[in-house]
Amino acid sequence: MLLFFLLLVIALLIVLYYDYKIIEGHRLQVYKGAQVIVDTLDSALDESSNIIKDVMSSKNEACGTKQQQLVRTIESSNWVRSVSIVYDGHMVCSSFFDINNENDANIKHYTRNQLNLSFTRFLAIPKPLISYHIKEGNWVVFTNMFATTLFKEAPFDQFLNNIYIAIGDEWIGSSGQILSKKNINPEEWIFFKSKKYPFSVAVNYAAIQEKHNTVWPTITIVSIVFILGMLVILYMVLTAPQRALLRAVKRNEFIPYYQLISSSDSVRWTGIEVLARWQHPKRGLVSPIEFIELAERTKLIIPMTKRIIDRVAKDIAPHISQLPHSFFISFNISAGHLEDKKLLNNCKTFIAAFPPNTIRIVLELTENQFLDSKKVVRLLKEFQDIGIRIAIDDFGTGYSNLAYLNQYHINHLKIDKTFVSKITSADESCYLVDTIINLAKSMDMHIIAEGVETEAQLRYLRERGVEYIQGFLFHKPSNIDDMMAVLLTRNKR
Ligand code: C2E
Ligand code: CA
Ligand code: CA
Repeated sequence: MLLFFLLLVIALLIVLYYDYKIIEGHRLQVYKGAQVIVDTLDSALDESSNIIKDVMSSKNEACGTKQQQLVRTIESSNWVRSVSIVYDGHMVCSSFFDINNENDANIKHYTRNQLNLSFTRFLAIPKPLISYHIKEGNWVVFTNMFATTLFKEAPFDQFLNNIYIAIGDEWIGSSGQILSKKNINPEEWIFFKSKKYPFSVAVNYAAIQEKHNTVWPTITIVSIVFILGMLVILYMVLTAPQRALLRAVKRNEFIPYYQLISSSDSVRWTGIEVLARWQHPKRGLVSPIEFIELAERTKLIIPMTKRIIDRVAKDIAPHISQLPHSFFISFNISAGHLEDKKLLNNCKTFIAAFPPNTIRIVLELTENQFLDSKKVVRLLKEFQDIGIRIAIDDFGTGYSNLAYLNQYHINHLKIDKTFVSKITSADESCYLVDTIINLAKSMDMHIIAEGVETEAQLRYLRERGVEYIQGFLFHKPSNIDDMMAVLLTRNKR
């Protein structure tokens, strides 16, 4: 998990670093380009200025021959597209304009300021021009050049949209778009001023940064990866116990422990209860309290129980001749498992593994498994038909409506250890235990008291007719060998 975070942070830093480098590279490139445009316009205006001075020196000549000369001058010029001579506000000669049709307003348009942005008056879609003029007395000579061609000198076109030639209050962009000075935020712009002429080249560096900024997309992607990563980790953490359990089932790590059950007159061993343990490779023996609930929820209890039943058959087989006659083997069966057809088959296989009448199976069910009466009656019958006994486990601790008892033929009732533990002396009456005993007797059930730890409890239960005793007083759950050792050394008869 730590590694995942570390990798994410490193990835973010690398992206941020490259991002910074890329933006920095773009910025330098654009600034260099802006300077190229400044230099280009400077030299275009130098050229204009030379042409104007030249024309000014021969301004008095008649336009007839003069015009040819003006046209040739323009043809040999790099930038200048027209040159015109104005006297007293009227056009007197031009390389381009028809001086007879040119009105004074148009002339004013081209010569407002020494350098100004103007538009062609003779095209359907006006093209932006940069007009430049020099005045001498009543004489004015002006030139026009196309504004957008200047941008072609920039060594890139990726960022051209963010570069403008700023003349006065109006700025002209590379595709002829006009931007008014009052609509911009000067903090987002950098200006490259001409040292010779009244213009500058403006660069919108904020837009460049934004356009090529991968920080936000990166942060978004990293956040999504982070959230997905967290969800995966959360899922892994939440399902870790479940996956561990599944692994344990596959590796056969669940093993049976056995607790001997004795007759209450303590003269003979009558059976055993099979209690699951998890032989954990790292933690050692794990109590069922830690895994049964999860195994039930995930239904892993079904394969787990099957493997335990098979294992018990193998454990018992070598000792079968040493076991008391009709020895009962009690399995705890979780809710829902009864309906699984395979359980009946598992039991049949188990019984078939031993000579007839040597063992009996008891299935311990908790009260809530008896709720759906119709189905349960049918299921119980299937088991009881092949000689399997049914016990109510943990009686009195769960479902408290006793009406269900009438509907079934239940063979055994197990008094839970929580009730047995209430018996403190053999002589002091324990109402709850007495009630359970009376109920079981009235319904013809055999009674097993579990959790019997003291002689006083044993005596109390025996005196009230409880037939079977299970508890640490006689035996603590153990593996097969230890159980057999106890059974044989303390064989009661
Ligand atoms: P449970 O069915 O009530 O089993 C009796 C529990 O009481 C066992 O605990 C047993 O070790 C303990 N016990 C027996 N005598 C005494 C005693 O004198 N004093 C005290 N304090 N405890 C005693 P365990 O083995 O820890 O099992 C706990 C529960 O786990 C079982 O309660 C049963 O509900 C469940 N369980 C165990 N194995 C399986 C299994 O294979 N399948 C299913 N479905 N549940 C199982
Ligand atoms: Ca039990
Ligand atoms: Ca119990």
